[in-house]
Amino acid sequence: MNEDIVQNILESRIEDKEITKCETCDKYFAYIPQKRFCDNCIKERRSSDYKKYYQKNKDRVLANKKKHYYENQEAQIERKRKYREANRDKIKKSNRKHYLKIKENKK
Ligand SMILES: [Zn+2]
Repeated sequence: MNEDIVQNILESRIEDKEITKCETCDKYFAYIPQKRFCDNCIKERRSSDYKKYYQKNKDRVLANKKKHYYENQEAQIERKRKYREANRDKIKKSNRKHYLKIKENKK
């Protein structure tokens, strides 16, 4: 009974976009657009555990990536183009830095 009430409150809060349920561990966290995992899971995914997760779910991960890429291809190209235009000097500088670093390592 009590659990049902809690569940209902949680669900209505999810619908109101106040909170989100983590897709991996089912914990709830404050709603942020596009965020599907809690901080802990994000940390875990970024750490070496992600390698394990990737090995185990390689096909799914790659399929999702591909799907996401094709669904957002034009938007991504446009975004990258805008970024390059707005940060031309910064990119040049960072490329130069990278180049010098490689050169330095070769000596
Ligand atoms: Zn989580």
